[in-house]
Amino acid sequence: MTTSASLPAASHPEAPGAGSVTDRLVEANRAYASQFTDPGMDARPVLHVAVVACMDARLDLHAALGLQLGDCHTIRNAGGVVTDDTIRSLTISQRALGTRAVILIHHTGCGLETLTEDFRHELEDEVGQRPAWAVEAFRDVDQDVRQSMQRVRTNPFLPHKDDVRGFVFDVHTGLLREIDPSS
Ligand SMILES: [Zn+2]
Repeated sequence: MTTSASLPAASHPEAPGAGSVTDRLVEANRAYASQFTDPGMDARPVLHVAVVACMDARLDLHAALGLQLGDCHTIRNAGGVVTDDTIRSLTISQRALGTRAVILIHHTGCGLETLTEDFRHELEDEVGQRPAWAVEAFRDVDQDVRQSMQRVRTNPFLPHKDDVRGFVFDVHTGLLREIDPSS
């Protein structure tokens, strides 16, 4: 098994010197905070919207949707899947923090398209324990967005289900394509 300790220290061009990537990010935060002014907002999103999206590194939600600080809740995981924990966040978002609309964003070239539920069996073989969660792998991204919309629209904990829309983000063009829930 390869460990990070066995890798050459300066093998990554983005990480010169001895500092870890976390050290770099903490340093960047100092610069951010030095320019930061308290906007004086409370915790309720200004636009009353929650965005559920894949964790993909190529999807910059705030830039792609023209969002500003304080505008929305962002709930992200592998695939942008509507899991029980996504529902937990959406329920708190709607019932305690005033959001009304839900936007679901999956994307082209998602890592979950390359996996199958075999991933769980491989994990079980390796560690002797099968994870409780599903991988939620998929082959058809449009259908996966429809399934996610359906999970939100049928959830009993969510009081606001009239404005639920789903999209596929193209990582090559930056454009969103809306998915018709009934197709
Ligand atoms: Zn993805």
